[in-house]
Amino acid sequence: MEIKPEASHPSRRGPAEYFTGAVWQDPIIDAPEPARIRAVRVSFEPGARTAWHTHPLGQTLHVLSGVGRVQSWGGPVREIFPGDTVWIPPNEKHWHGAAPGHAMCHLAFHEHLEGTHVTWLEHVTDEQYATPPTG
Ligand code: MN
Repeated sequence: MEIKPEASHPSRRGPAEYFTGAVWQDPIIDAPEPARIRAVRVSFEPGARTAWHTHPLGQTLHVLSGVGRVQSWGGPVREIFPGDTVWIPPNEKHWHGAAPGHAMCHLAFHEHLEGTHVTWLEHVTDEQYATPPTG
């Protein structure tokens, strides 16, 4: 057993190459082989979001605070709230982030396939982000 104290894993700023706005990533676990899981706590400032991306083995998001938005390519923008869990299937192109005017914090869990956890694509444009949410 290993206990990783909070102070051992400082917050990392999400790079502008992959995120719009201020996003902070707090690593929870990057489990050693044969485990594949990586878990991260991600905090988005209002309006901040990921770029479009995919995960080879899918991803689970769990909202801790605030108001968030998530969208799969070709689908509606959906609003998400604390306690909501989102399952994103393998290779489904999507983005996630905070709603306009609201910060949002979620947990993210994703397994790697041959070392790849995520494949980054283009940024979510302001026009795409401004699509009113449904559901
Ligand atoms: Mn994702």
